[in-house]
Amino acid sequence: MRRGRLIVVSGPSGAGKDTLIGDALEAIPELALIASATTRRPREGEVNGRDHVFLSREEFDRWIEEGRLLEWAEYSGNLYGTPKQSVDDLLEKGRSVILRIELQGARQIKERRPDAVMVFVRAPSLEETRRRLEGRATETTESVESRMATAIKEIAARDEFDHEVVNGDREQARRQMVETLKRIVAEGGHDARP
Ligand code: 5GP
Repeated sequence: MRRGRLIVVSGPSGAGKDTLIGDALEAIPELALIASATTRRPREGEVNGRDHVFLSREEFDRWIEEGRLLEWAEYSGNLYGTPKQSVDDLLEKGRSVILRIELQGARQIKERRPDAVMVFVRAPSLEETRRRLEGRATETTESVESRMATAIKEIAARDEFDHEVVNGDREQARRQMVETLKRIVAEGGHDARP
């Protein structure tokens, strides 16, 4: 059986990654999204194991020590990481796996898994990024500022990615995301070991 592909979707907070990933998951049954581990507290409505695996700082440190994370990074004062076993199990079953991660983690994946495909999602402008962040009820003023500073650094790194999706017009962005990921999935990964 052919292995699935590892797909990194990254881009500044407020770019609309979640919505576009949702569109892709709905349109492409071969895709799976990994619930990453985090020390961030669950937001209202978030489910442990579905949205994220919510860990204490001690548990997260133990996961690092035990080599259970394919990459990890600190973002806005919290730790986030990708559970390695979940990724490899899905890839071996032929599913293509989306990692929705920030830039430092994306760079670690590119180094450790050079066959990963890197997709960058961004809003049409920085003004639009700020507007979207300010419109999010979950963000405090402080975290909008810290996320804006990070967004500027992330946009500067877009050349490190294989594909870019600009999320301005909703329908156009949806189509671009779905078409891009369909092509990536169709290419497939290396053959799985017998
Ligand atoms: P949120 O708190 O909104 O779920 O995620 C905040 C940021 O952390 C987003 O930019 C998201 O892409 C990133 N993130 C989520 N999970 C992971 C992960 O497993 N690893 C890394 N490096 N970043 C992650």
